[in-house]
Amino acid sequence: MPYKSRWHIDIPNTHLASLLLKSPTAPLSQTHRCYLEAARPDTHYLTTHDFRLWSQRVAVGLRKAGLKPGDRVLLFSGNDLFFPVVFMGIIMAGGIFTGANPTYVARELAFQLQDSGATIMICAAASLDTGIEAAQIAGLARDKVFVFDNAIYDNRGAGQKGCPYWGELVAPPEEGLGFAWELLDTPALADTTLALNYSSGTTGRSKGVEITHKNYVANMLQYTHMGTLHPDYDARRARARWLCFLPMYHAMAQSIFIAGALWRGTPVYMMPRFDFIQMLEYTQKFRITDLILVPPVVVALAKHPAVKKYDLSSVESVGSGAAPLGREVCAEVEKLWPEGKINIKQGWGMTETTCSLLGWDPTKTSLSASVGEPNANCEAKIMAEDGVTELLERNQRGELWVRGQNIMKGYWHNQRATRETKTEDGWLRTGDIAYVDDEGRFHVVDRLKELIKVKGNQVAPAELEALLLEHPAVADAAVVGVTVNHDERPRAYIVLTAGQSATAEDILRFMDGKVSATKRITGGVVFLPAIPKNPSGKILRKVLRELAAVELKQA
Ligand code: AMP
Repeated sequence: MPYKSRWHIDIPNTHLASLLLKSPTAPLSQTHRCYLEAARPDTHYLTTHDFRLWSQRVAVGLRKAGLKPGDRVLLFSGNDLFFPVVFMGIIMAGGIFTGANPTYVARELAFQLQDSGATIMICAAASLDTGIEAAQIAGLARDKVFVFDNAIYDNRGAGQKGCPYWGELVAPPEEGLGFAWELLDTPALADTTLALNYSSGTTGRSKGVEITHKNYVANMLQYTHMGTLHPDYDARRARARWLCFLPMYHAMAQSIFIAGALWRGTPVYMMPRFDFIQMLEYTQKFRITDLILVPPVVVALAKHPAVKKYDLSSVESVGSGAAPLGREVCAEVEKLWPEGKINIKQGWGMTETTCSLLGWDPTKTSLSASVGEPNANCEAKIMAEDGVTELLERNQRGELWVRGQNIMKGYWHNQRATRETKTEDGWLRTGDIAYVDDEGRFHVVDRLKELIKVKGNQVAPAELEALLLEHPAVADAAVVGVTVNHDERPRAYIVLTAGQSATAEDILRFMDGKVSATKRITGGVVFLPAIPKNPSGKILRKVLRELAAVELKQA
């Protein structure tokens, strides 16, 4: 029998925007600041009232620009005060949001533009050259590339290099006020797609994960429900302040800092990108209450000498997700606070589960690296390799399968990958290896799938292998992840073409311009006479990972 959540909640059939910004006739708070720029919070912030009006203006503006229901709009930007506005405006206009990693090079961005079929790209001013180059590769006209910055807040901002300013997609306030909220009140809209968040899933290249309104709403209510179990929830919620440095293009930050924060009414201080010292400074300055982290940041909290210089006494909870994290590091970090104050809890999720699916009951103490138990309404089970037999005994390792209303609709225009990943009765094969301990809690211990996670970001070996094969001296290639310093790094195994030569440096130089920083081959380049494969030609990644472990031990 699958492990069913201990809790059940009702999930309304609604459009995400109507749920979050409801009572369209009554003004939302004119004083509650929902988003603040961490660098200048006194002058650059949005109240919930402002937020809703800006979102309405973007929705009306996009419609005027010709956006039709189901059209995709790609946002290529780091975190910004207006990132959540653009997200909300797109979905209120009936469009589909797709966010690209702001560190992408043109080739990577062009892939997402083409794959999603985006008809509009909103591109950070600082990344405009990359945006223009990608648009050229993808065949998107320059007048569909809109320059994005938050100078719009000060009534400034302008187009550049033949690209219009994104202010052209923002209708005047009086037109925004006329946004027809009643159009969102159609229950059938709950099953339409609102976002394409990219993920390689269990195999191959990055794919658009179709997340519906229902998925988003369910997931947000499921994980916020877990928080409500805290006996002091209301008081904690009232004083909560969050800091967002995790990238909002990714499912985790997008769901927590856009949907979750608006739902709970928690102010979010926005950082354009991660900077560890600034994170500490802002945590002290704004009295941040909850640290929402990924493992490399937890490791830095344990090791970085600067940590002790900052007053982190406002912190009431620390959570981590997106990649594995050992218990020893958590225990080290917990010592930064008086004994018993902070207990680091890990959660588990995938882009394909909208955000999180396994989490911790806040009334319990975590003394292991467990990722907790199924969130409200969710189920999880451990399956044998045959994909048919459920492993019922505790502590038996197998593939984690999960089910819930938050599981993606499918992969965008890729029925084959959808069928391979999601069963007809709604189970998602996660590609993670896990077990359930004697207390009924889940532990994610390894991966069956190819995916590598670098600082919480996805790296798909298939993409790197295809690029390596473009090198004239490379006859065959395989990429696996190796663990270095509590993080993963891509390591390349290469077979040279007969009569050709190349050094590890040649390979690295060849790759560096083609991929963004997290995808660089930072785990080493190794030459082999042949890549180990099974009879049907599938790379034996486990063999390579074991080989890497031996090689790294010897080094
Ligand atoms: P993403 O779709 O980018 O969120 O990546 C999802 C994958 O990240 C999962 O399938 C796991 O392999 C990994 N992951 C997420 N959370 C955890 C966790 N708490 N522990 C171990 N791995 C995790």
